[in-house]
Amino acid sequence: MDHAARLQRLQSELEESDLHALLVTHLPNVRYLCGFTGSAAALLVGARETVLFTDGRYRTQAKEEVEGARVLVARKSPLVAAAELLTTRGKAGQQRVGIEPESITAGMRERLVAAVKGKVRLRAAPPLIERARMVKDADEIVCIRRAVDLGASLFRTACKRIRPGVTEVEVAAAMEYEARCGGAEGMAFPTILAAGARSAIVHGRASGARIPRRGFVVCDFGVILAGYCSDRTRTVHVGRASTEARELYEAVLEAQQAAIATVRAGVTAAEVDGAARRVLRRRRLARYFTHSTGHGLGLEIHEAPRLAAGQTQKLEPGMVVTIEPGVYVPGKWGVRIEDVVVVTASGCEVLTPTDKELIII
Ligand code: ZN
Ligand code: ZN
Repeated sequence: MDHAARLQRLQSELEESDLHALLVTHLPNVRYLCGFTGSAAALLVGARETVLFTDGRYRTQAKEEVEGARVLVARKSPLVAAAELLTTRGKAGQQRVGIEPESITAGMRERLVAAVKGKVRLRAAPPLIERARMVKDADEIVCIRRAVDLGASLFRTACKRIRPGVTEVEVAAAMEYEARCGGAEGMAFPTILAAGARSAIVHGRASGARIPRRGFVVCDFGVILAGYCSDRTRTVHVGRASTEARELYEAVLEAQQAAIATVRAGVTAAEVDGAARRVLRRRRLARYFTHSTGHGLGLEIHEAPRLAAGQTQKLEPGMVVTIEPGVYVPGKWGVRIEDVVVVTASGCEVLTPTDKELIII
């Protein structure tokens, strides 16, 4: 990963944002900028220097991982140590330092204010790093590709395990065991395995419920591999599928394909969402499609951009997003189909594409 280039770019943006420095506290942003993966960190990015503050537990790890920043092992909290360093820089009261409003809690802010003793002016910074992270570089796309590939392989395990009478959690556990054996650091989110009427629950985490003799099973699963997330949903049917069930599945698949066909550099996130929704509206199913069509992913499972109505963000080559329309009829059933795609100038590439005909178990 080219951490130096990322830091340089951010440093050049600080000035445009009228900031002397940025105090990065959101850990995925810290990792993105300097490679540090520990759980205690504050990264102070100034025009000329970048310093990573961590604590004694991470002395060795920080030395191994961090690129482009000086490492300071603090005796107190990394945040307070960063604040104290700030008070020694520049003219008192003149320095404008950006903080990340989405990651700083009220308590952290209080400690920060107390530690800078009025010598530094704290400002809520614009989401500079989140914006940069939307467009993945070649190294990141390699990582995401590998994660999606490993993630996709878990569906074979799911298909082997899904049988009437087996609990949802047994299927999920088999998938998760497979993921860890395949090198995953963990799951990107709690595995969703929702069978029968539970398939209508959009985020139906695997439960102790037994898979019924007949009905849909929604499997939504993702791994973290080398820090990067995958995300995929497949819906299968246990037992004979009625015409109505097949039509429902076909409608969702058509919506997903319509959205994928819309993805290309220059279209807005809302246009992609609209393409999926239009298909479902024609089938009078739009009111059962209760979430957005997709989201960016990378170091985090949910990142910008969000593919939803009203989102004016234009897609750019290198953005990586999910396309995941679904239909959920409460108390009855649900279907969702999800893939990860990489935006290109002329369209998109579906990562680890597979045949998506309805699988009957
Ligand atoms: Zn998902
Ligand atoms: Zn998703």
